[in-house]
Amino acid sequence: MTEQDREWNKPVEPFCIIGNVYYVGASEVTSFLITTSKGHILIDSGYAETVPQIKQNLDKLGFKLSDVKYLLNTQAHYDHAAGLAELKRLTKAKMVASVGDKRGLEEGDKNDFAWGDKYAFEPVKVDRTIADGGVVSLGGVTLKAVLTPGHTPGSTMWLLNVKENGRIYQVAFVSSTSIPGYTLLDNRKYPSIIPDYTSTFAKMKRVKPDVFLASHGSFFDILEKAEKFHRFPAVNPFIDAEGYTNYVERTHTAFLAQLKKEQDAKRAKTR
Ligand SMILES: [Zn+2]
Repeated sequence: MTEQDREWNKPVEPFCIIGNVYYVGASEVTSFLITTSKGHILIDSGYAETVPQIKQNLDKLGFKLSDVKYLLNTQAHYDHAAGLAELKRLTKAKMVASVGDKRGLEEGDKNDFAWGDKYAFEPVKVDRTIADGGVVSLGGVTLKAVLTPGHTPGSTMWLLNVKENGRIYQVAFVSSTSIPGYTLLDNRKYPSIIPDYTSTFAKMKRVKPDVFLASHGSFFDILEKAEKFHRFPAVNPFIDAEGYTNYVERTHTAFLAQLKKEQDAKRAKTR
């Protein structure tokens, strides 16, 4: 693990975010547990090294890892998927993923379009692929997949309705719309990267979730919000529709700026 990985993998006290949604991940790489009467659903594993923390966090909350029936993923990158193979061994849960990220998960992100084998991890078999709008249902709880490709070819946002204090809140588990050093223009290894990001931003702008959660804690200020929530439990800071909108806007602006930069550079070269 790099210095940054260790920083991103610090333990966090697990807690209930809202309704039946619990935080069981690390300081920056997130994991969420959704409990139901028929077993549980876990979104993202963090690193391979995050798995013991997840197990301990479930113990602390009084849940059993063996009750996890489904493993979901937001993106087939090592910091969110490298622990899935071990979690699958421990839980015997079904791994559900988009067609676009099935390859990345089953090959442990070898031959990544941007990084080659640099961030390869232990492969995990996908038991069921899910299409845009497809659902995972367990014990009366339903999660809907919204495909948001770009960051990875099969990046997936998961949506869930939760009930708290007689109100229904829509929770979004966002993947990522950041561009970590990618080349957008004429990307031969990922030819549809520009239309993919473009349609993802349009699609994400049509969704209006109440609760904003994501693959990285810093996207939604998890540590600050957790601290605030602990001090003032009457107001849930994770109910943050504006935070979601701002995230989508901010990353869309960054995408357009990079695209323009690459187009300008190309024009200067061919002139
Ligand atoms: Zn990533």
